Amino acid sequence: MASLCPHCKDRSLSPSRIEADLPALSCDGCGGSLLSLVAYRHWREHQPGQAAVDTADDSLDEVKDTSIALCCPKCQHFMTKFRMSADARNQIDLCVHCDEAWLDRGEWQLLDRLALAGRLTLVFTQPWQNRVRSTEAERRAEQRWGERLGEHYERAQELREWLRGNPQAREILAYVNQVRDDIPL
Ligand SMILES: [Zn+2]
Ligand SMILES: [Zn+2]
Repeated sequence: MASLCPHCKDRSLSPSRIEADLPALSCDGCGGSLLSLVAYRHWREHQPGQAAVDTADDSLDEVKDTSIALCCPKCQHFMTKFRMSADARNQIDLCVHCDEAWLDRGEWQLLDRLALAGRLTLVFTQPWQNRVRSTEAERRAEQRWGERLGEHYERAQELREWLRGNPQAREILAYVNQVRDDIPL
């Protein structure tokens, strides 16, 4: 029995190739692909060393992502969502029972642009997910500082960078802190 697309539900998945030597099952309707991690690992082992990929790309958020929960086309269990990176909102669905990943249309190319195509299994680890979350939290905090400090933000940033790693940072801060007494409450 052919597996049905977890997204379209009424379309069958048919054999395709994500890369010339990486087989998958794809849906003609939505363009998504079911990728077996067994096939992926095999493909990865036969890849030459990955060159550094230029991630300076401002179109990262353009690839549409399924936000609803998907059921694995093979075993019908709910798949688990994993954030790709702090640079893209996209999530990859993984069936932890079958080791099958669902990639929405364009998400493989997105992984490639993020230099993650060769490190896909890393995305499904807790340390990676923790890092995505902490990077996002840092960015949000930084954004709030930017809003609070407004026109002074850039100078403040420079000052912070200058203090970071400065062996006399504590003394400098103590010295600068004297201005507190001159600030009206
Ligand atoms: Zn589909
Ligand atoms: Zn499954």
